Amino acid sequence: MAIYNPKSLKAEEFINDQEILETLKYAEKNKNNVELIDTILEKARPVQTKTGAKCQGLTHREASVLLACEIPEKIEQMYKIAEEIKLAFYGNRIVLFAPLYLSNYCVNGCLYCPYHLKNKHIGRKKLTQEEVRQEVIALQDMGHKRLAIEAGEDPVHNPIEYILECIQTIYGVNHKNGAIRRVNVNIAATTVENYRKLKEAGIGTYILFQETYHKKSYLELHPTGPKHDYDYHTEAMDRAMEGGIDDVGLGVLFGLEMYKYEFAGLIMHAEHLEAVHGVGPHTISVPRVKHADDIDPTAFDNSISDEIFTKIAACIRLAVPYTGMIVSTRESEEVRQKLLQVGVSQVSGASRTSVGGYTEEDRPHDTEQFDVSDQRTLDEVVRWLMESGHIPSFCTACYREGRTGDRFMSLCKSGQILNCCHPNALMTLTEYLEDYASEQTKEIGYQMIEKELQRIPNDKVRCIAKQNIEDIKNSNRRDFRF
Ligand code: SAM
Repeated sequence: MAIYNPKSLKAEEFINDQEILETLKYAEKNKNNVELIDTILEKARPVQTKTGAKCQGLTHREASVLLACEIPEKIEQMYKIAEEIKLAFYGNRIVLFAPLYLSNYCVNGCLYCPYHLKNKHIGRKKLTQEEVRQEVIALQDMGHKRLAIEAGEDPVHNPIEYILECIQTIYGVNHKNGAIRRVNVNIAATTVENYRKLKEAGIGTYILFQETYHKKSYLELHPTGPKHDYDYHTEAMDRAMEGGIDDVGLGVLFGLEMYKYEFAGLIMHAEHLEAVHGVGPHTISVPRVKHADDIDPTAFDNSISDEIFTKIAACIRLAVPYTGMIVSTRESEEVRQKLLQVGVSQVSGASRTSVGGYTEEDRPHDTEQFDVSDQRTLDEVVRWLMESGHIPSFCTACYREGRTGDRFMSLCKSGQILNCCHPNALMTLTEYLEDYASEQTKEIGYQMIEKELQRIPNDKVRCIAKQNIEDIKNSNRRDFRF
């Protein structure tokens, strides 16, 4: 039997079934142990030091106790601390992005995904480079600066060379004042050599959802194709790091397996990356299974309520305080609003999950990966964020300034966010307001910028930010950053 070892590079040792089962037992036994719960909450709380707020995070066992706890008053405390952590390390900024589907050709047999090989009636499409350009122009015309590219796994239709060519095309499009400044990549697990090529192509985060950490279920849910190999999939982030990518994004597809099992696995995966590579995941995504072409989400009997989903997000925030958390348009406006209060730091906006969807007038469904719940325009999402006190940020400065991996984490931990990320958010928001926003959004936006500029502690930084904002308003100069 495999023995739990977070430093091991073997999937069954760092995501250890026995350890997860014992964690769940421990959590169940202590779910009403108020004394222990209070100690864990105390440990999770940010503490003020001379150099700003600090957080220790929680172990998978501690975080699992919180997730198991059903005492309303304690859950309220978790939410409050989650919000405090978010504000301490990420401020009130919310980063915006959009997915870009390149190809839905796929050789896998994933039971929850309509792109599975046996689906013969879904339209198959792969963008040509000219079509990539057109999609990128459409995304730039909305105001997007950051994309996550998505593709099925198909070595013939979507080899790594195709993905690399698309990345080059995307970075090469400069339409009016537009630019895509960060391309994150969500493609199937691959080799160290291919990860190195992605790194050289200048990608931001490499994102790969584990789907489920439960090996037996994983094998059943991925009956055919290369993705069937649980170990290869689970060890992908280690290969990505070996290939030089130090920003990696984890995620579980909630609804496939028991959420408590998945949660413990997810936190163990984060602990493993920290233990082996000295840096945890850059982001964690929290997708839930959705209806799609030939997929009925009720066929999976582990669906979770919005309340549990919110609790999961809050517990992730407490466990890994420095990791960004992403919620997509799979979720409704109402759910996204709730999640923003418990620590989400990134949302997608105006997403289309079909291949070539952005160049169509009406939302196409023929090649779509799943139904999108939040169908608002980017302008509506930007306005909504500001109306609830969040600064929409189109910033991509960190990775372009080499602040990736542990250097990004150091920035996060150093308390310099108000002198760095905050002005960057305000400057990129100004770009959005000048180039793409409706009059109503512009008005709210400039009021917010005026107010938020006052919160920059360093006089010199505040002065430069103000000057740059004036330059953006009065000229075509763009892309200022700290
Ligand atoms: N083919 C790659 C892979 O296997 O990782 C790329 C990712 S796929 C385009 C993006 C993600 O969409 C998957 O990892 C999965 O979690 C999610 N997904 C698939 N089917 C879904 C569904 N019916 N509802 C919600 N999310 C789904």
